[in-house]
Amino acid sequence: MDELLTKDNIYYRDLARDLAEKHVRPVAAELDRTGEYPWGVIKALQETGLMGMWVPKDYGGAGAGLLNLCIVVEEISRACGGIGCTYVVNALGSFPIILGGTEEQKKKYLPDIASGDKLIAFALSEKAAGSDAGSLKTRAEREGDEYLITGDKKWTTNGAAASIFTVFATVNPERGTRGVSGFIVERGAPGFEIGRREDLMGIRCVPVNETHFKECRVPSSDLLGGAEGRGFKHAMMTLDVARPFVAAQGLGIAQGA
Ligand SMILES: Cc1cc2nc3c(=O)[nH]c(=O)nc-3n(C[C@H](O)[C@H](O)[C@H](O)COP(=O)(O)OP(=O)(O)OC[C@H]3O[C@@H](n4cnc5c(N)ncnc54)[C@H](O)[C@@H]3O)c2cc1C
Repeated sequence: MDELLTKDNIYYRDLARDLAEKHVRPVAAELDRTGEYPWGVIKALQETGLMGMWVPKDYGGAGAGLLNLCIVVEEISRACGGIGCTYVVNALGSFPIILGGTEEQKKKYLPDIASGDKLIAFALSEKAAGSDAGSLKTRAEREGDEYLITGDKKWTTNGAAASIFTVFATVNPERGTRGVSGFIVERGAPGFEIGRREDLMGIRCVPVNETHFKECRVPSSDLLGGAEGRGFKHAMMTLDVARPFVAAQGLGIAQGA
């Protein structure tokens, strides 16, 4: 298969394979038993430059692109599905900012994600809004220079580990998906709580949590893209780029089985 890969692809494959064998495989079974978060592997990913390699160069990343990201995810997932999952969810969480954020938002948030100093999560799904994400009920109401977000999200992967969250809420339920806006919410924002953790199969080292927002105050400068009503589009654009790396996870897990 090497003849189908560029030098760049092979570089990322070998880097990720080496990291996976040295740092991921030895801890995979134990972390799946204990449910402990793989902070040691995150540090190794930072040191090799693989954290945030998908972030554009202008914001501190390697600008390595989706195919290289898929190759890295496949290699890590081959050694541990959970660590592959927690790694790539940082791409899922950051793509709304990469694809839809304002220049100020990109400059403010992406460098810490690129370095791996901060982890990011993606909070779209709700108890009754999974496949039909457009029916989400979480509300965001403007009050002066802030938005107040109220609602409950489910299955927020990396919930208990992330420092930044891209959160989707409606500013106008009557407008359906056109009323949905994206927000960048930082851990510690007033009214934001990490809730119950799901028990999972084979990816137990990843905290997948409920996330709760009770009049959670977010500055209007953290309205994704600086305009209301674009959130559903940003979420769908993100899921479009996320599908290949979910497939890469599956491929890696199957190879490792
Ligand atoms: C481990 C894990 C991690 C996750 N991480 C995140 C995350 O980080 N962020 C986030 O926002 N969400 C996350 N999710 C949520 C995930 O995106 C949803 O599970 C997914 O959108 C499906 O929603 P649901 O589980 O409510 O299933 P449902 O929408 O209830 O679907 C159940 C079944 O019905 C089928 N179905 C649904 N609608 C139709 C239809 N109209 N016609 C035919 N068949 C249909 C579906 O294909 C599926 O087989 C995660 C989920 C899991 C399990």
